[in-house]
Amino acid sequence: MPPKQRKIAIMGYRSVGKSSLSIQFVEGQFVDSYDPTIENTFTKSTRVNSQDYEVKLVDTAGQDEYSIFPTQYSMDIHGYVLVYSITSAKSFEVVQVIYDKLLDITGKVHVPIVLVGNKTDLYVDRMITAEQGKRLADSWHAAFLETSAKQNESVADIFHTLLVEIEKADGNVQEK
Ligand code: GDP
Ligand code: MG
Repeated sequence: MPPKQRKIAIMGYRSVGKSSLSIQFVEGQFVDSYDPTIENTFTKSTRVNSQDYEVKLVDTAGQDEYSIFPTQYSMDIHGYVLVYSITSAKSFEVVQVIYDKLLDITGKVHVPIVLVGNKTDLYVDRMITAEQGKRLADSWHAAFLETSAKQNESVADIFHTLLVEIEKADGNVQEK
């Protein structure tokens, strides 16, 4: 089977680790200081359930509660990774605002989403419990994971889980 093309956007408040997760997934390394203003699209081949995928990963510059949802991220994106940091209550609030805007702008009731609580290695500074994250994701009917980009903990799982969610949403009938 030829690889399926899938376009994924990674969104969330600034400094939650969007670029670190992207680079860890695509290049297998942790970059400590990455220009926070850079918006980049990475390409990565991966395989899930015997299906090959070519993933285009759009690493966004970050949003806050006042950001207008960027329209370029509302079209031909198959699924979203919404990231907060477990050390930042603010980032957990912002991710909920982003979610509301996302549903508004796509006009869909269900969008494939994985909610990610990043920076689990900083557990001494934890502000958001795993239960809080899980509850929010459940209310969205989305998948939920906690990760550490720094320790490469569950990073590939984010993208594999999202690809499965996208397949479910497709019902395996629509080829895009
Ligand atoms: P972005 O603005 O969301 O793209 O965030 P970055 O990926 O640029 O990361 C912001 C800061 O958090 C940088 O200093 C990263 O090194 C750091 N960071 C990102 N992920 C982790 C993580 O899992 N653990 C720790 N300890 N630091 C992280
Ligand atoms: Mg970044």
